[in-house]
Amino acid sequence: MVHHRIETRAVAAGRSAEPGSPLNHPLVPASNFLLGGDRAYSRDDGTETWAAFEAAVGALEDAEAVSYASGMAAIAAVFDQLPVGARIVWPEDCYQGVAGLIAEGERLGRWTATRLAVDDTDAWCEAAASADLVWVESPSNPLLQVSDLQRIAATSRAAGSILAVDNTLAGPLGQQPLDLGADVAVQSATKHLGGHSDLLCGVVTTRRSDLVETLRRHRELRGATPGTLEAYLATRGIRTYPLRAAAAAASALELARRLDDHRAVDVVRYPGLAGHPTHEVATRNLSSFGSVISFDLQGGADAADALCGAVEVVRHATSFGAVESTIERRAAVPGQEHLPPGLLRLSVGIEHVEDLWDDLDRAISRPTA
Ligand SMILES: *Cc1c(COP(=O)(O)O)cnc(C)c1O
Repeated sequence: MVHHRIETRAVAAGRSAEPGSPLNHPLVPASNFLLGGDRAYSRDDGTETWAAFEAAVGALEDAEAVSYASGMAAIAAVFDQLPVGARIVWPEDCYQGVAGLIAEGERLGRWTATRLAVDDTDAWCEAAASADLVWVESPSNPLLQVSDLQRIAATSRAAGSILAVDNTLAGPLGQQPLDLGADVAVQSATKHLGGHSDLLCGVVTTRRSDLVETLRRHRELRGATPGTLEAYLATRGIRTYPLRAAAAAASALELARRLDDHRAVDVVRYPGLAGHPTHEVATRNLSSFGSVISFDLQGGADAADALCGAVEVVRHATSFGAVESTIERRAAVPGQEHLPPGLLRLSVGIEHVEDLWDDLDRAISRPTA
């Protein structure tokens, strides 16, 4: 069979070829099925709706996909693969839910964890040699640092540890962690795949059949299954994901450059800017620099709060990856106090770039107007 480009796979995957079947995957709200077929009970066997979603995500990454109720459910399932007493390596800049999960496991005596700077690749390689799980988040959230995955993968493979990458920020269009050597990629489908801020869903992808089996079994026993409507909406989101992601990334690059030139802006963090600390590895590992920008205003936290109150097109809200642009002062979020107090995370949507720029420029220059 011809192996199509990712844009085509996003549209074509997860559809039935059966004559007379609906062109779109059906929404099947079923818990149980007539016995004697492939499915008996949906927590164990899934539904056609999840199967379509998993086929579509799997096609985006040439892998098997296992879907969950949320990104955190997918992440927790990966951590639950570890034996008691496992050693974990994880990044200083990281999604705060993962930080909470790791802290809880430490408190319960389930594992020990070593936290490293994202860009200290030598330290990652050294730690990977004796770790059970190497947990990478790349680009990291919200400082947008990119990990040197190939180098880390070489050591972790030699050591037999699991290398897992939280790929939520880049999404499969921006980065293919399994091609770069990861055993497992995880993403919150709540973000880019869903793309409309109207669902929670998560997914793990892997090419290791042993992990597919244990992850599915874990989902059966823990019950963190995706909602049928959510799987349906996320599949629908995948159809336009490449278009949305390309438009948002083009606008983000333009906005990052303009913010970088703005006299009231102090630091802009965007992997596509030549001055970004991990720009070089970003150009190797990412096929798109993505739609998220972090920046600090010269006026610090007060100026950042004022901007959040002054924007009109960009919405003052958390999260990223949706059609609408959102902005948030990240250090105001509990568990993110390590960040510069004024750091703003902007998620660029698909509005016209000039309207976004006018809105930001007006809100930066005249925050109280
Ligand atoms: C949002 C997010 C998650 C968690 O996903 P949910 O769907 O909210 O559970 C995990 N990792 C990163 C990087 C995220 O941005």
